[in-house]
Amino acid sequence: MSKQPSSYLSSKLEGRPKANGNGNGIYSLESIQKGELVAVFGGVVYEWDAFIHLPERDRSLCIQVEDRLFLVPRPIGEGDYVNHSCNPNAGLSGQIGLVAMRDIKIGEEVCFDYAMSDTMPYDEFECGCGSANCRGHVGGNDWQKPELQKRYAGFFSPHAQRKIDALRKEKRAFEQAMRMTKAPKYAAPVSLYE
Ligand SMILES: [Zn+2]
Repeated sequence: MSKQPSSYLSSKLEGRPKANGNGNGIYSLESIQKGELVAVFGGVVYEWDAFIHLPERDRSLCIQVEDRLFLVPRPIGEGDYVNHSCNPNAGLSGQIGLVAMRDIKIGEEVCFDYAMSDTMPYDEFECGCGSANCRGHVGGNDWQKPELQKRYAGFFSPHAQRKIDALRKEKRAFEQAMRMTKAPKYAAPVSLYE
């Protein structure tokens, strides 16, 4: 069997242990421009029912790629060490590509926000990313937050984007129905009752 990792990491980055001893991360070795591809995830796709029985390490390094489908790296590579941040410098391009959302300086840790890919509660935690805008709890419903939908527009995984679009459509239909219900009241001239 091939020993080559299932993920790709640009040669401008390396995976290494974090300085605080809290796991691994990916760091830029060269400056990276906004829009540049930094990593592509790979591995084996598991359905939810099988996925939830995998060892914790497999589940923590995976990425959700569809509504109930999860990509688990086999074998694990440096590209799989990417972490969550509530103030990320990278976002998703499609289901498995990671691109720079802004210019990245040498030595920066490259992170994305798990809200861009996660729509199920398989990897919820109290966040310690240290950003000024850290939201504290990271959960499987964070993609529903309007401020995140705005900030990460264009960087959500396609399956998350479909859910966002469906939610917006539902909201618009609801608002329209509410306006229709109220319309006769506003339309009735006051003089009729005098
Ligand atoms: Zn955070």
